[in-house]
Amino acid sequence: MKNRNIKEIYSLPSEVKFCKKCVISNQRPRIKFDNEGICSACRFSEYKNSSIDWIKREKELKKLCDENRKDNSQYDVIVPGSGGKDSNYVAHLLKHQYGMNPLIITWSPHIYTDIGRKNLTSMIDSGFDNVLVTPDGSIHRKMTKAAFVEMGDPFQPFIFGQYSAPFRYALFYDIKIVFYGEDGEVEYGGSMDFADRPSLKFNDFTKHRFSGVYPKSFENYNISSNELSKYGLNEDELAKLKSRKIEQHFFSYYKKWIPQENFYYASENTGFEVNPERTEGTFTKYASLDDKLDGFHYYLSYIKFGIGRSTSDAAHEIRDGNITREEGVELVRKFDGEFPKKYFKEFLDYCDIDESFFYEVIDSWRNKNLWDFKDNNWKLKYKI
Ligand SMILES: [Zn+2]
Repeated sequence: MKNRNIKEIYSLPSEVKFCKKCVISNQRPRIKFDNEGICSACRFSEYKNSSIDWIKREKELKKLCDENRKDNSQYDVIVPGSGGKDSNYVAHLLKHQYGMNPLIITWSPHIYTDIGRKNLTSMIDSGFDNVLVTPDGSIHRKMTKAAFVEMGDPFQPFIFGQYSAPFRYALFYDIKIVFYGEDGEVEYGGSMDFADRPSLKFNDFTKHRFSGVYPKSFENYNISSNELSKYGLNEDELAKLKSRKIEQHFFSYYKKWIPQENFYYASENTGFEVNPERTEGTFTKYASLDDKLDGFHYYLSYIKFGIGRSTSDAAHEIRDGNITREEGVELVRKFDGEFPKKYFKEFLDYCDIDESFFYEVIDSWRNKNLWDFKDNNWKLKYKI
């Protein structure tokens, strides 16, 4: 299997640095570090806690809702969501505080966990209409295997579907706004240029989301272009999205985004429950619980960037003031890169691969700038 040059593919810096405020490293794609050694996500966090006029932003939200509210009890906003804490928080606020009539679109996980299924049901029972879009399982398996091998992330087909399905339903119901939770490009580290963007206009999200997302090599997995097209939007749909001015908005622009608060809110109002046990690879129990395969998405991030699930979680918790940096460092050392063994067999069966092939793929995506092979084991060269 061919070795990937991760540093080149993702334009990563050669010298590894860790942020002085949180625990993230400069190996996260697109993150920026300033002269003081602080990452762009931490700078954004300071900005949102001190410089944003949240009262003004809320007025903008009210205006947006007023402009889009339909008074005939038809759906007027799409919220993509799985029954998780964040989308429940967004949908519930839109409905009960801003008088909207949201339709929640769920792109099905690869394999539901019990808690994920339960949370979806609780969310519906708490007063929401929901469409569960479940892709053809035989294609989804091929797509997942292809994405694992060719893109180094088995979760990509899910991500594609999660972005295309809500827009398809926006077209179907003639809804102008699709409300996502947070803008990951600012909350988790991208460019501060995006710090004040409420939405993505059609032209911004089409170019990197729906065009050329699949490597040519997917054709080697017996996936036809017809099958692929279900995971993206076709030309006709894209043209309609543009002419009807359908936009993707970020709730985190209008209301300060605090995941722990979302959790309390969702528990109280939508019956959201946490995992009874700690999620593998991290210390949390409340994030990303629905899919038995998502541990492999985070594990691949650890292999490619040296950034596991615990690093990402600890970085948010530090920025939100829930833990200190020292506590965060401890949690990273303890849990980062823990192998997702609980659902390993299910992952292998799902992709129809064996264990040795799995490790061949893992090693092809291992960032050789970050990993050393010593004493018969791969070890990270740089640790926080
Ligand atoms: Zn930071």
